[in-house]
Amino acid sequence: MSVYGNNTESRQAIVVTLKALGDKQLNKGTSGNVSARTPDGMLITPTGVDPSLLLAEHIVHMTLDGSVDEGQLTPSSEWRMHADIYRHKASIDAVVHCHSPYATILACARRAIPAMHYMVAAAGSDAIPLADYATFGSQELSTANLQALSGATACLLANHGQLATGRDLPTALKLAELVEEQAHCYWGTLCIGGPVILDKQEMASVHKAFERYGQQTTRDDLASGNRLNT
Ligand SMILES: [Zn+2]
Repeated sequence: MSVYGNNTESRQAIVVTLKALGDKQLNKGTSGNVSARTPDGMLITPTGVDPSLLLAEHIVHMTLDGSVDEGQLTPSSEWRMHADIYRHKASIDAVVHCHSPYATILACARRAIPAMHYMVAAAGSDAIPLADYATFGSQELSTANLQALSGATACLLANHGQLATGRDLPTALKLAELVEEQAHCYWGTLCIGGPVILDKQEMASVHKAFERYGQQTTRDDLASGNRLNT
């Protein structure tokens, strides 16, 4: 169940996340947007408010079918893709979208990020996929994103930017940061002739190791294949 609700504390968590996107050089101006699931819908950043001026009271509460509570600002024009993720992915309670520089470069070249670094597995798959292009804010874009996210927790959006999801806002933010790091790395390898891609077997080992890592496994346990918390 989501830890967020229609309250000031959750609104403030969204403000903090949007500002962190700027501090981490993942977002400039008003292009990024952030949301969190609530029991009745979601909280989302408003359209057209500069992050430096954003206050908790500006964050918009709305239902997942687009109905906005009275007396609030207009939600992000990209609200639909946030709402559709909550509707279709029960394990996701936070979504971060931004036009971070290297992810956007790759998205504009329509290149998904392959298994060129083991940390690609942090997106839950062997590649960070690329969603098909559609106009921003459209149902077509939302549908394309959902398809790309069917086997991953983050994706690039063709000719647009990136989308990262998580069980809470810090997890989604961290994943957006990782997508940008991986995009930067992939871009760099393309500049020197292209990466060497890890094969399926190697990536399967990484996914397995991540599972153990997530269960607070010690170094010795990793070596012996045992788990602390089973
Ligand atoms: Zn966008």
